[in-house]
Amino acid sequence: MSQAETQNAEHFAFNADIQQLMGLIINTFYTNKEIFLRELISNASDALDKIRYRSLTDPDIVGEEKAFKIDIIPDKNSNTLTLRDTGIGMTKQELITNLGTIAKSGTKAFMEALSQGADISMIGQFGVGFYSAFLVADKVTVISKSPEDEHQWKWESTAGGTFSVVEDDGEPLTRGSKIILSLKSDNVEFLEERKLKDLVKKHSEFISFPISLQVEKTTEKEVSDDEDDEEKKEEGVEITEEKKDKKKKKIKEVSTEFEELNKNKPIWMKKAEEVSKEDYSNFYKSLTNDWEDHLAVKQFSVEGGLEFKSIIFVPKRAPFDMFETKKKKNNIKLYVRRVFIMDDCEELIPEYLGFIRGVVDSEDLPLNISREYLQHNKILKVIKKNITKKCLELFQEISENAEDFKKFYEQFSKNLKLGIHEDSSNRQKLSEFLRYHTNKSGEDLISLKEYVARMKEGQKDIYIITAESRAAAAASPFVEALKKRDFEVIYMVDPIDEYVIQQLKDFDGHKLKNASKEGLEFDNSEDEKKRLEEQKASFEGLCKLCKEVLGDKVEKVQVGQRLSESPCALVTGEYGWSANMERIMKAQALRDSSMSNYMVSKKTMEINPDHPIVAELKKKSDQDRSDKTVRDLIWLLFDTALLASGFSLDEPSSFATRIHRMIKLGLSIDDDKIEEELPNLEKDAQASAPETANKMEEVD
Ligand code: ADP
Repeated sequence: MSQAETQNAEHFAFNADIQQLMGLIINTFYTNKEIFLRELISNASDALDKIRYRSLTDPDIVGEEKAFKIDIIPDKNSNTLTLRDTGIGMTKQELITNLGTIAKSGTKAFMEALSQGADISMIGQFGVGFYSAFLVADKVTVISKSPEDEHQWKWESTAGGTFSVVEDDGEPLTRGSKIILSLKSDNVEFLEERKLKDLVKKHSEFISFPISLQVEKTTEKEVSDDEDDEEKKEEGVEITEEKKDKKKKKIKEVSTEFEELNKNKPIWMKKAEEVSKEDYSNFYKSLTNDWEDHLAVKQFSVEGGLEFKSIIFVPKRAPFDMFETKKKKNNIKLYVRRVFIMDDCEELIPEYLGFIRGVVDSEDLPLNISREYLQHNKILKVIKKNITKKCLELFQEISENAEDFKKFYEQFSKNLKLGIHEDSSNRQKLSEFLRYHTNKSGEDLISLKEYVARMKEGQKDIYIITAESRAAAAASPFVEALKKRDFEVIYMVDPIDEYVIQQLKDFDGHKLKNASKEGLEFDNSEDEKKRLEEQKASFEGLCKLCKEVLGDKVEKVQVGQRLSESPCALVTGEYGWSANMERIMKAQALRDSSMSNYMVSKKTMEINPDHPIVAELKKKSDQDRSDKTVRDLIWLLFDTALLASGFSLDEPSSFATRIHRMIKLGLSIDDDKIEEELPNLEKDAQASAPETANKMEEVD
């Protein structure tokens, strides 16, 4: 910094999270420091993308600097490595915000990932790649000129919690940024030509702007004039001693020049056969900042009425912020005839495929397109449809390898399910990728196709149960009879499954039947049918009484077949919310109380006529419809059925009171007596024992 700069510099504290992150970057022992170069080149490339895109609609913005490029300048004298780009640059305010004061969710997320064993090279994925400069530099200087700011600014930091910003009085940049890294003494290897070339090849080969490295060139030159020697020496030209005495002299001249390092044409312009696995992997990494290889890739081109080329990748992992609402919705870069246009065009790919990474290069779109133009564009609609189709083909390919598909499903099953909910035209295809546990699957997950293949003879429907967990599904009263009859039941335990089954009504010609809802029917034999009719008739009185007692808590009370061990359960309407859905909606509605009115599912109480409790209750109610104990027990049965069926209690305190009454009965405590004569409690309790024992039998 010049003296004037030192005087005028403003000082700022880094955002606390960033401070912590920088501390980690500086103090963690880490050998793979080279990634800083990839991160800084990637930032430069983003800045170039931005100015080029702006220039499409505002050609004057480029001013005198027409080139879009990145230069790398190593300087062994000053031990600095400089990266210069002619990108969009940063205004004073942008330097302050972007490089130090803005809070980003990625900062914390990255540190958390590090503490769980993630690698520093993952930094780019979390949107804080710039700070990797401090892996190799103890001082970082950023000089930047934005077309939006009259002045050129200098940002500087030696870490330690602060940075400074001052108007730069050095050599003017026409536009863009210059990042000067003052290398730590043990990182001077990053000034070596060979090293830098290797690194650019390895990490940044597919950057779509020219990256040039300043290299030293030594040329031999013949000179005839001896007297020039002294002069030449002063100019820094070395003279070879042995040739000094000859008349014509050869001298070595050291000069610098820029050598372009990434001359390859874009990978998507090549034929798929010409692209190696390694090329794809390098391209994927440069596109995404991912540190791992992709899981799957597909390159394709569409010709005919409309022309575009594309490469799509499925990553191995979901991004840390996949379902964050503020996040941009897709990760496909849109190019028009090799010119980058944007990387957040929402019309390119459906939202549920937002995890797909890749490029699309269209021959048909105009270069200077506005976002409004893109919104209802027919060309984009066709591109989107094609990309979606290719994604599904790619998923199909992944599913042919069980291990890969397992990884894929762990990461992206929610996306597939969202797709089933949203994308009606691909719903059936997407449903083929669903995998679930069942009562017969053990630890494996099975597809609906496998389910259908092993359905019991004569079985028409696909049975499912939605619940909070696998254990809850397995223990659900709704599946008792299904299991008893040896049917396979699919356990759907992801909240999003409820949305899946709202849309996915059948698979391969078989209806999906939720075991917790009405409309579950079995193919009964003639005997069974007859028996059911008889039971319906004989339990009619009890059903009526239950309805009378429970009032509008239930729609109706009826004899059912789906229970085997439980006395009763509460089923919901075929098209209404299941208990599980009610639970999910209640959890979501905590934020929105206006929803609570819609949240109550209509319930039918189904009683199990073969259960001893129900049989005994029938006997008692037949004797005396107004028996207080019977009415109390009906309430208790209802409340326990609510819980067992996966609902929550409306009035937990009255449920508790009823339970306490039962406990007192069990402990032979007589309420009235307790209040009257406490000291005689034991005696009285004993006296009432025979009666309570009787009552307990009814409850047991
Ligand atoms: P990311 O690039 O993922 O957003 P970084 O920490 O690497 O995160 O960079 C922070 C921000 O600083 C960028 O979003 C960008 O706005 C700005 N920035 C970084 N490098 C440059 C550059 N060379 N030219 C212009 N802006 C840059």
